[in-house]
Amino acid sequence: MSKEENLECSFCGRKKVETDLLIAGIDAHICDKCIEQAHGIVLEEILEKEDVANPADLEVKKPLEIKSFLEEYIIGQDQTKKTMAVAVYNHYKRLTQPKSAQEEVEIEKSNMILVGATGTGKTLIAKTIARMLNVPFAIVDATVLTQAGYVGEDVESILSRLLQAADYDVEKAERGIVFIDEIDKIARKGDNPSITRDVSGEGVQQALLKLLEGTVVNVAPKGGRKHPDQKFVEVNTKDILFVAGGAFAGIERHISKRLNRQAVGYSAALSEDKIDEENLLQYVIPSDLKSFGLIPEIIGRLPVLSYMNPLDAKTLRSILTEPKNSLIKQYTKLFEMDEVAFTIDDKALDYIVGKALEYKLGARGLRSLCEAILTDAMFELPTSEQKEFHVDKKYAEGKLTKSTLKKLRAAS
Ligand code: ADP
Repeated sequence: MSKEENLECSFCGRKKVETDLLIAGIDAHICDKCIEQAHGIVLEEILEKEDVANPADLEVKKPLEIKSFLEEYIIGQDQTKKTMAVAVYNHYKRLTQPKSAQEEVEIEKSNMILVGATGTGKTLIAKTIARMLNVPFAIVDATVLTQAGYVGEDVESILSRLLQAADYDVEKAERGIVFIDEIDKIARKGDNPSITRDVSGEGVQQALLKLLEGTVVNVAPKGGRKHPDQKFVEVNTKDILFVAGGAFAGIERHISKRLNRQAVGYSAALSEDKIDEENLLQYVIPSDLKSFGLIPEIIGRLPVLSYMNPLDAKTLRSILTEPKNSLIKQYTKLFEMDEVAFTIDDKALDYIVGKALEYKLGARGLRSLCEAILTDAMFELPTSEQKEFHVDKKYAEGKLTKSTLKKLRAAS
């Protein structure tokens, strides 16, 4: 072997032939792989220093400011916006509380649970809060979680997602927000645990407990580059805000039963408060979640409870046009980029809302309806001379055939 071939990287020991490049120093050599790795470490160190690593630097907005930020993106759901604004405010106040004060009064976490039909904006609210605070945000589906030892993802995978959203910055992840969707799907089936023991659902609930409360978890970073040799990173969940959401289909039955029971007990007092039978969710209290099948420990660790109102025609109509990034504003922008002035009249908008309601497509369906109506134009106009495009009810009707609508319903 020649002397040249005998050279090796002084950092990792790779032989020259095993490297693409070996650079010589005064008394040592370094290979391309080690340079890359070292470069990565330097970059991350610099970023970390620039970053607001200190939670005290976190800008805590007042509840009113939080609510008005939410107002820009979310229509209606007033009660939830308010509850959420207070919970988030308290949560981040807790984070910025000096250590000395913690010894006197320890503020507990304000994890939340939102009850409401699918497509009413539960994820949107949580996502918007995370955007406002500029903290990492991860969505996980409770139905794919399993208790350790079963096929599926174990609850720690929630933190891998959050870590990913935080660009593998552990400190950032530890102040993030996690939205756990479909929490109702891991409810115990049946009120009486001894009759129907639904092990998997309850097992997941048990596994989630520690995470919600605050614990240190070993998380596989999945491709984290700072610790190429380290398999796991430790993530402390004590300051992570968890927001759980679920449709809790059928919970109205439990609410109604409870309300009736109360009405019998305090008949005089309650009969005067008229119960809005159309929207029983607004009366939801933690014990209804228990009747539905969540274990009391989980309910206790999600102490802030709120509900989402069903979306009526007026709300759907506003969702189309009012939010800062509403669908109509987005399409207008898209056409504008091709120098096409896009307009749509009120009757056409009402027609879209009507179809969303008739076919039970909800807010998510608004987008599919708009796509169905506008795709032809978005295909043709960029290469045509037409500079104005107006959609009226007749045009919309022409594009939304019965079969298109049926397809949309099947897909929703
Ligand atoms: P959920 O989590 O309750 O199933 P999402 O938050 O995912 O519902 O809502 C689906 C979509 O519907 C959102 O991305 C948004 O475009 C729209 N949407 C739903 N509710 C509202 C609302 N109240 N205001 C504005 N947009 C909404």
